[in-house]
Amino acid sequence: MAIVLPDLPYPKEALEPYISSKTIDFHYGKHHNTYVVNTNKLIEGTEFSELSLESIISKTYGDSLKVGLFNNAAQVWNHSFYWNCMKPNGGGLPTGKIWDKINSDFGTYDKFVEEFKNAGATQFGSGWAWLVIENHKLKIVKTPNADTPMVHNQKALLTVDVWEHAYYLDYQNRRPDYLNTFIEKLINWDFVNTLL
Ligand code: MN
Repeated sequence: MAIVLPDLPYPKEALEPYISSKTIDFHYGKHHNTYVVNTNKLIEGTEFSELSLESIISKTYGDSLKVGLFNNAAQVWNHSFYWNCMKPNGGGLPTGKIWDKINSDFGTYDKFVEEFKNAGATQFGSGWAWLVIENHKLKIVKTPNADTPMVHNQKALLTVDVWEHAYYLDYQNRRPDYLNTFIEKLINWDFVNTLL
């Protein structure tokens, strides 16, 4: 079954002024789409052609002959997840179950913010910062390149893309400003709550 580029959960201008439609044009329309196209090329006529995206990711992880497929497939999944982690008028204090869970596992919301920002800022080069759940506990992790929590027995709840293509047009080299804006203006806590 062909892997499909999912629709964005909002119009491409919806996150302005924090993430421009121009960034979405490149990031979703070019980068994310290219990962989909490449994944489909790499699975065509192979044992992977009928598998779900998640199965492709888990079956290729750690296989040195399948690095290209893993990287493209995991990037398809990571990006689809990332778009859902944002919404217009998002950000700020969490609500619902995730509010309680953050307070019980991190102590305070501010501690969560500090750890999440630190993970995003200190991921050297390309990668992702994540809020995950592992053994029933929330945890902040960072992953390089296409690496993704599902292959580490972690369930992703929230992610921010810190590849330069995610923020360079809007923030140039100011990754910390992009991270602050993501936290204060963009996070879709409703989506996170649906995953708990
Ligand atoms: Mn990206």
